[in-house]
Amino acid sequence: MALKIIASTCTGCSACEPECPNVAIREKGGTYIIDPAKCTECEGHYDDPQCVAVCPVDGCIVKV
Ligand code: SF4
Ligand code: SF4
Repeated sequence: MALKIIASTCTGCSACEPECPNVAIREKGGTYIIDPAKCTECEGHYDDPQCVAVCPVDGCIVKV
């Protein structure tokens, strides 16, 4: 029930961070990470994970 950002593919564009309804995304060392304790895959807020929807890199944010 949480998504993960593949750090090696994340460009650090920051597009995902403000879209998260749970404030689960933060910057760490130039790329971004998702706190699995906070990520609900957007359930109850949106039909689809918003971070995936806005991320310009295909396959950067995946299910764990
Ligand atoms: S799936 Fe939703 S809750 Fe989880 S990190 Fe992405 S935007 Fe936040
Ligand atoms: S939108 Fe994608 S590439 Fe941009 S910071 Fe978030 S995970 Fe990284």
